[in-house]
Amino acid sequence: MSDEPQRSVPEDRTVEAPDEDGQTDEDLAPAAGPAAGPAEPAPADGQTAEASEAPAAPAEQPEPEDGVASGPSADAAGVEPPSAPIPAPAEPDTQEAAGGDPPPPRQPGRPLLDRRRLLIAGAGAALAAVAGGIAVGTGGDEPDVAGPRPAGPVTAVRSRQPESTRVTPPPVAVQRAPIFTLAQYRKATGAAPFPADAIALTIDDGPHPVWTPKILKLLDRYHVPAMFCMIGNQVLGHEDVAKMVTAAGHQLANHTWSHPGVLSKRSGTTIHREILRAQEKIHDTTGYAPKLFRSPGGVWSPKVLRQVAMAGLFPLDWTNDPRDWSRPGVGRIEHAMLAARPGQILLCHDGGGDRSQTYHALKTVLPRLKARGLRFVAL
Ligand SMILES: [Zn+2]
Repeated sequence: MSDEPQRSVPEDRTVEAPDEDGQTDEDLAPAAGPAAGPAEPAPADGQTAEASEAPAAPAEQPEPEDGVASGPSADAAGVEPPSAPIPAPAEPDTQEAAGGDPPPPRQPGRPLLDRRRLLIAGAGAALAAVAGGIAVGTGGDEPDVAGPRPAGPVTAVRSRQPESTRVTPPPVAVQRAPIFTLAQYRKATGAAPFPADAIALTIDDGPHPVWTPKILKLLDRYHVPAMFCMIGNQVLGHEDVAKMVTAAGHQLANHTWSHPGVLSKRSGTTIHREILRAQEKIHDTTGYAPKLFRSPGGVWSPKVLRQVAMAGLFPLDWTNDPRDWSRPGVGRIEHAMLAARPGQILLCHDGGGDRSQTYHALKTVLPRLKARGLRFVAL
C-alpha cells in the first residue's frame, strides 16, 4: 500500500480546558509528544492522512490551568445540560472536503488536561469496578483452565445497539470527558452491565480495501465483535468494504469525515459538518447509524464534546493503545495489546496505511486474550 500516506505525527491526546467562553479555538495541544514531524500532505488518493491515535506523550505535562474536565474518574462521564440546538452550518466546507487536511504543526501551548491523567483516572475507575465485586482473575496471564470458551456468533455477544433509521439521533447530554473504559461507557450511555471479563475492541480509520477484509476474517475466526470507527471519506469509494463490516455483525462509530489533525482547533460549525457528513455517509452506505463518535487522535475539548452531544452521539476514547499506527513492530503491538485488562477498550487500526503489523499482531492477540478468559463485547 505504498500509495498511502504514512502517519508520522503523533498527536497530543488532550482534553482541553476551555477558556472563558467555553471555546477552545486557541492555545491548543502542547507539544508533549515525541518529536513533532512535518504535517502530512493531503493524500492524493483520498486516503486520509493519519496523524492520530498517538497515546499520551511520555514527556511531563503540567497541570491544566483550570479545572474543566479535570480529575475524571469513574465519574468522568458526568454530564452537563445540553447546549443549544445545532446551528445550521454557515461556513463553506472547504478543508474537510479535501479529503484530509494536514494537521497544524505542533506548538507549545497552554497546558491542557492530558490524556494520561484521564487514563489514570479511567484505569482507576476500571479497577474500582473490578474491585467492586467482579472476580476477574485475569489481571495476570493465567490460561483459561476451563478450556476453550464456546464460540458464539459475533452478534450474539451483545447486541444492545438497535438498528436505527435515524441518521442523527436526538441530542444527548454533553459529556464532560470522553469514554475511556467500559464502566464509563455504561455510565454515559446507560448500557446494561457488561460481564466481569468484558473487553472491547475498536478499529479505526477504515474502511480499507485490503486490511479491513483481512481483519474481518480474523474477527470471524475468533468470534470477536468489534467497533469500526470509520472515516467518512474512506467509506466513500470503499462502500462495499463498509457493508462487509456491518454484514459481519460489527458496529460502526463516526470518526469524522476527513480525520482532521486537531479537531478541537476547528470551529464548531466545521466540527458539526465533520460529524454530520460522516454520519450521513456511513448511514447511507450501510444503513447503520453510529451512536458513538471517536475524535481523531483522541483530541477532545469542551467544544468537541458539545458538538458530539448535539449530534446525539457519545464520545468514545480508549484505554489501551498499542500505537500500531506507527508500525512499531508486531511484537510491540502484541505486547501492548496483551496487557489489556477487563473493562478496557482497545484500539488498533485497519486504515491509514500499511496495517500488516496490526493484522499479524491480532492473529496472536485475539486468541490469547480469549484464552485468558477475556470476553470481547460489542458496544
Ligand atoms: Zn483515526
